[in-house]
Amino acid sequence: MLTLLRDLRRLRRVLDLAGSTHGGSLAVRHVDAGSCNGCEHELTLVSSPYYDLQRFGLGVVASPRHADVLLVTGAVTTRMREPLLVAYNAMPEPRRVAALGDCALGCNLLGTADNLAGAVEDLLPVDVRIPGCPPAPDAIAAALLELIDAPLQTKMRISATRDSRLRCDSRR
Ligand code: SF4
Repeated sequence: MLTLLRDLRRLRRVLDLAGSTHGGSLAVRHVDAGSCNGCEHELTLVSSPYYDLQRFGLGVVASPRHADVLLVTGAVTTRMREPLLVAYNAMPEPRRVAALGDCALGCNLLGTADNLAGAVEDLLPVDVRIPGCPPAPDAIAAALLELIDAPLQTKMRISATRDSRLRCDSRR
């Protein structure tokens, strides 16, 4: 049964049956690569009844093998570098990566250079950037809704607001 469900899911990806305007679904695997939990707190609010993104098809999955999107929070520590790459490599194609928060965007807010592996985009092809420390739930919800609407075959680049590097520079 599980194999059948997996095959149906792959077929949906290939045929792009998801459609648009919140008609699809999105399975998200969240990886905390070294955050202070501030970003997680805001992320939790997005799944609250106020936003209720589940009604648009957003679901959080435990395994990267079932995920459409890898959502990364926190500065990537050297210890989390390998688990992050393992999670990404376990995901089926087409797959996407979202970097949530200024730490994930490489603004160096936490940790020191010798225990950080760099920004998420130094390790993985990031499609969606959601800046903020932490980002507001509205911004997170808007970015995730854009992901639900975008056909999985299309390569996308969403910068939720300003260029992340400029944003980091302005914080120094
Ligand atoms: S961006 Fe801010 S809230 Fe998010 S993990 Fe970094 S320090 Fe914490």
